[in-house]
This record gives sequence, structure tokens and C-alpha cells, in this order.
Amino acid sequence: MRVRAQIAMVMNLDKCIGCHTCSVTCKNVWTNRQGAEYMWWNNVETRPGPGYPRQWENQDKYNGGWALSGGKLVLRVELKKSYKPPGLDDYYHPWTYDYEVLFSETQAEQQPVARPISLVTNEPVDVKYGPNWNDDLAGTEYILEDVNMSETERAVYTQFKDVFMMYLPRICNHCLNPSCLAACPRKAIYKREEDGIVLVDQTRCRGYRYCVAACPYKKVYYNWKTGKSEKCIFCYPRVEAGQPTVCSLTCVGKIRYMGVLLYDADKVLDVAAEPDPKRLVRRFADEVLLDPYDPNVVAAAREAGIPDDWIAAARRSPVYKMVKVWKVAFPLHPEFRTLPMVFYVPPLSPVVTTYENAYGAKITDIMPKVSELRIPIQYLANMFTAGDTALVEQALKKLLAVRIYERAKNVAEPGLAEKAKAALQEAGLSEADAEEMYRLFAIARFEDRFVIPTNPKRYTNQPQVQRGVVGLP
Ligand code: SF4
Ligand code: SF4
Repeated sequence: MRVRAQIAMVMNLDKCIGCHTCSVTCKNVWTNRQGAEYMWWNNVETRPGPGYPRQWENQDKYNGGWALSGGKLVLRVELKKSYKPPGLDDYYHPWTYDYEVLFSETQAEQQPVARPISLVTNEPVDVKYGPNWNDDLAGTEYILEDVNMSETERAVYTQFKDVFMMYLPRICNHCLNPSCLAACPRKAIYKREEDGIVLVDQTRCRGYRYCVAACPYKKVYYNWKTGKSEKCIFCYPRVEAGQPTVCSLTCVGKIRYMGVLLYDADKVLDVAAEPDPKRLVRRFADEVLLDPYDPNVVAAAREAGIPDDWIAAARRSPVYKMVKVWKVAFPLHPEFRTLPMVFYVPPLSPVVTTYENAYGAKITDIMPKVSELRIPIQYLANMFTAGDTALVEQALKKLLAVRIYERAKNVAEPGLAEKAKAALQEAGLSEADAEEMYRLFAIARFEDRFVIPTNPKRYTNQPQVQRGVVGLP
């Protein structure tokens, strides 16, 4: 066992309101400069829809991520011998408007119009796409470009009565098996030993863009001004000081959680090469991610030089709880085999769906069954568990059971207490689990959502990181 530690993230999609505050604050801090206008290190997508860049999930189009060839992991770009980074039309031409025409136009019959001008070419440009092009548009033609549904399903979910919508915020996943890193011929991309953050060394990068093509999440961007590639840096200067990333700090819905995960580096390639993608998801949580309470893991972690305060933080990590203990958070598209370290709690909402008649509004059951939820389980499974509906169903049952349990505590409704008991039992949760999940999901404070130890290489003199002081049993 080769233990490593990584700062990882969970996003609880039940609470994302699609406000884009995360994207805007990230842009203000990191990409508010020439050459980076079209870069959204954090973006929020309305789903179903094509995402940003357009149809990034379609690996037949882009050849990103890993494939298996003769049981071995091979980059799809190499296997297909085809290198396809998205073009500007798949993102958008950053543009401004020709405002001058509004002031200089002489009297005419028509009002003057300020046309969009490309900031790259300075030519007029016809804007046809953007980072939130189908924002809040459910059931429109954009659904037809979503690769997570079959053609028949797409036809169904454009019908008004079946329409559904959810938000998907995305950043670089700081993967354990990053295809961006593997594709770089200059070895400019590296994964930091101490916290797992994946970075591009700007002095080594020559702008070949193999990383852009190879990342299946399209989270490396080419800076047209500097001629180099850039990506989300997980706000490493903040994380090193024990602070959450800007997107997490400013998140209006408080959907983001950050904490330490211990993992076994010896298992990474073996699990990434698991032939059955559905098994890969389970093996990722069970075999790659480690239990920080296990004495063998603690011994191996200490031997690997992981400080005790990091091991203690791994025990308090909300990410560990949600991903490994409760199994309610999953990686995005695990079938790309990069082993992402950003995880998602699938959304339940809307909870109230069942009315006896539309306008009498007599609620028959305020808590529906998981199978009655508006967002199809298969759709969520195609995004988060390589199509394994059982895993998503189990997670949603747990989330729903906690809500029923909390409602039973506060509402005097006949039969609700029994219902709560049955729901917890079916979800495999104890009352103590439900209390803890409620605390973390609903009312968690800053220090519960972000358990980030300071960087051992840079903050050795800070009192909170004195070696050995934390005292592990
Ligand atoms: S999400 Fe893409 S850019 Fe980020 S580490 Fe994974 S492969 Fe690399
Ligand atoms: S700030 Fe939070 S709630 Fe708003 S879009 Fe971003 S992740 Fe969602």
C-alpha cells in the first residue's frame, strides 16, 4: 500500500440554484485577462443540454480520456490516432460590441446597431454559442445534443409533462489518473505529491494542446495570447493556507465541501483499467480510497510522510463521509477512467410531485418514492455511475430517508414516524447516521464544510500544524 493524500471536493447538486456566482468569482480572480476570456475554469451547465464546450462528453467527437486496448489503458487520442481539441465555435469567440457606431452614426431612418466584434480577430462575429447558452432552458432543442440520453428518451423529455432540469457546476477534477498529464509530451503537467492538485508548468508548456484534446472533461484551455495551456489550479495558494477555493467560498447554495481523502497509489492504475465501468465506480470508492481509521492505513500514511494533522483531517473530512462511508457522492463520468477527485451528490428535487388533481392541489404524499422523482434515475446514472442505476437509487433513498426522518421530528402527521423508521431501514441508515447527514447536508457550518489542513511544505511553523500534536488514537 502506497498512501497518498489529496484535497478533494463534493458538490451537492440538490442545492445548486444555478446562479453562476462560482463561475463569476473564479473568473474575477483567475481568468480576467486577455487570452483567457473564453476560459471558464468553473462553469455551470443547465442539464439536459450540450454543456461547455459544446458536447464535451462526446468522446466519439473529441477522443478524450482513456480506453482499454488489450486490457491496457491507452489514451483515446493515441488509440484513434486523432487529435481533436474543440474549436472556437465549440466555445465562443470572446466579443465586444462596436459601440462607436452608436455615437458616430448620422441621422438615419433606422436606429444604429452595435454589432458584436471578435476580441480575437477584431472582425464582426456571429455569436452562436457560449458558456451558458441554454441556461435555464428545459425541454428545448438543446436536449437533443445531450449524450446521456438515447434518442427515444430525448424525444420523451422534450414533452412538457416530462420535462426536467438540473444544474451541473464543473471544475477540473484533479484526477488520480489524469489523461491531460499523460498526453503532455513536454511533461509540463504535474500532480502535486502533497495535495494532489494538477497544475500546468507555464515555463515548460509549448502550447501543443494535446492536454486539451486528452482531457475528457475539457478542463484545460489554450490561451491564444500566451500560446500556452491553462487550467483550474484548485486555488492552490488559498488551499495551502487552509482556505477553501474561491468557487466554494462564494457558493450561494453552500453546495460545496472540501476535505482530505487518503488513497492507495498502488491501486490507481489497476482500478482505472477495470474492464467493467460499473465495477470501476464501486472499486474506486472501496479499494482506491482508504479508511483513515484503519490502523494499517495510518501506519502506511505515516511511513509515507503524511503528517498527523492531515490524517486527522482525513477522519473529519466531509468528502470521506459522503463518498466512502455513506456512498452518496459519485465521480462525473467514471467511465472516462481518469478517477476524478471531485464528486457529486445526485439531486432529488423537486420533492413534492404527487397531487391528486392539478388544481385541487390535495397532496397525497409530500415525499415521493425514489422511482417517482422527476429527474430520471437512468439519466443521473449515465452521468455519475457509468449507468449503474442501483448505486444512484441507493444514494437517493438515503437522502430521501433523512428528509422523511427530519420531517417526522418536526411535523405531527399521522403515520409519519413509522414511515421515517421504514425509510431509514430501507436505506440502511441508523438514526445517528440520519442526524449526522442532516447536520452536514442541511445546516453545516464553514468549519464542517471545509476541513482543509495547511500545506506541510509551506506552513511548517504554524501552530495548528505542529507535527504529532494532533494525537491519533
Ligand atoms: S479533469 Fe481534465 S484537466 Fe483536470 S486533471 Fe482530469 S484530465 Fe486533467
Ligand atoms: S455558486 Fe453554488 S449555487 Fe450558485 S451556481 Fe455555483 S455551485 Fe451552484
